[in-house]
Amino acid sequence: MRLPLHRPKRHHVVIIGSGFGGLFAAKALRGKPVAVTVIARTTHHLFQPLLYQVATGILSEGEIAPVTREILRRQRNARVIQALVEDIDVDRQVVRARSQDQELEVPYDSLIVAAGAGQSYFGNDEFATFAPGMKSLDDALELRARIFGAFELAEIAADDPAEVNRLLTFVVVGAGPTGVEMAGQIRELSTHTLRREFRHIDPAQARVILLDGADRLLQSFGEQLGTKAQRCMEDMGIEVQLGTTVTDVTDEGVSVRRRDGSEDFIACYCKVWAAGVQASPLGETLADQTGVELDRAGRVKVLPDLTLPGHPEIFVVGDMAYVEGVPGVAQGAIQEARYAVDRILSRLQPPHRPTAVQTSKERAGLTPADGGYDVAADPAVPAPAPFAYFDKGSMATISRFNAVVSVGPIRISGFIAWLMWLGLHLLYIAGFKQRVSTLVRWGLTFVSNGRSERVSTRQQLAGRLALERFGSGISGPLLRGEVPPPPAGVQDVTEQTPDMDSLGEERPGRVT
Ligand SMILES: Cc1cc2nc3c(=O)[nH]c(=O)nc-3n(C[C@H](O)[C@H](O)[C@H](O)COP(=O)(O)OP(=O)(O)OC[C@H]3O[C@@H](n4cnc5c(N)ncnc54)[C@H](O)[C@@H]3O)c2cc1C
Repeated sequence: MRLPLHRPKRHHVVIIGSGFGGLFAAKALRGKPVAVTVIARTTHHLFQPLLYQVATGILSEGEIAPVTREILRRQRNARVIQALVEDIDVDRQVVRARSQDQELEVPYDSLIVAAGAGQSYFGNDEFATFAPGMKSLDDALELRARIFGAFELAEIAADDPAEVNRLLTFVVVGAGPTGVEMAGQIRELSTHTLRREFRHIDPAQARVILLDGADRLLQSFGEQLGTKAQRCMEDMGIEVQLGTTVTDVTDEGVSVRRRDGSEDFIACYCKVWAAGVQASPLGETLADQTGVELDRAGRVKVLPDLTLPGHPEIFVVGDMAYVEGVPGVAQGAIQEARYAVDRILSRLQPPHRPTAVQTSKERAGLTPADGGYDVAADPAVPAPAPFAYFDKGSMATISRFNAVVSVGPIRISGFIAWLMWLGLHLLYIAGFKQRVSTLVRWGLTFVSNGRSERVSTRQQLAGRLALERFGSGISGPLLRGEVPPPPAGVQDVTEQTPDMDSLGEERPGRVT
């Protein structure tokens, strides 16, 4: 059944995604004469920069993922729909989405597409089976189950030294900020948090290997900070292997090729894929209909005002958009979202006439069809200034009390950089409750080295693979309890995950 959602009388801005781009666009429209609909496939706004802390037991998922509906509860002109956008009909100006078995059609006057990016395995999607990425809460919780599960399995396999070595070898692929932060945290876990908890293994014996095809860690931070970060990681006992590309990933380990052409196999149980991004497939939908170009990562090559050729009403922002000189970071998405909102508002109300002399229909934000302002017919409006990105710098943590920060020509590392990292991340976490509880949690973790979010369930460990086995996406039949039989010949990949019955799991919750 397809449910058409009514077109509001006011100019209707539909926003796809509740990440940095989507949420900041919605908030920028607060109190403006428009109706706003945010459609996102998750109920939450995800603070991706702290996903690694969920994966390594420092923070809970609620602390980095406040519910979008709650964030926007006081914004009277905004509504939130949890649904997966499957199609955009640019000629009819309609977004088609699905929520479980309901299909929705949402008409729009302006559209902001901020559907972000997923993990890229550079054409080797099969690697994902054994090397989960780090893009969603599901990914982080699965990794948490794999990381802590590896130590549990090693304790049981203590009589088999080769198996213990394999279980206690952690390979992180990709030496960007996410890879560096993950490797650092796994090492801290093994050397500090888990000390004295096991009787048959020494967690500190765990090998943490950080791999990258490039010559340097943290490419975007420049040579000085990259070299410094590498030295710090090696001092912590992390093995940094640069000039190394992954050629295969199996349950048993990772095959790699070195720069000199030699091949190697690293036996390991837990792998983390922190390399490469692939933009949302909605980019292809837009390209098919408007002819806009995509780059190799599937990002939409938008016009200088972030719109599509021939479609001034469609904006693409954030990780989905390719804009020369704008990196795929939260600030890029936020600034693009705010620019898109400014553009939409300036089309609704004559920017060159004070509010007092605008007509009531213009002030009410009615569409041109309903007698509102029509920017296209207004000769006094100059061409829009192109989007300009203001680079506020980048930062990454290496370990407790140690981070690197790059702002313009300034390079800072160590404790001061870590304090800057701390302050900035607290500032950008959405929601007061989340900020307070994150601060408390950090205080406890940094002082005691303990981690209170170590629980994992069988569903977190095997859920992704089970869903894949049934060919089901997030709104597929599994959610309605109609589990189809496995397709003939499909390998039961869930058998390749450890038996969680032995891992002190909590009771399985519901699939959400
Ligand atoms: C592990 C990690 C660490 C990072 N660390 C940093 C950092 O330290 N500093 C920094 O600046 N940046 C960091 N980033 C990058 C930053 O998080 C992204 O650049 C930013 O989130 C991009 O915002 P966005 O709105 O474009 O996409 P996202 O934040 O990814 O949001 C996409 C939204 O679209 C929704 N969506 C996707 N497809 C659909 C669909 N078909 N239908 C409906 N909804 C859909 C998603 O549910 C989500 O709500 C990190 C990213 C990751 C993954």
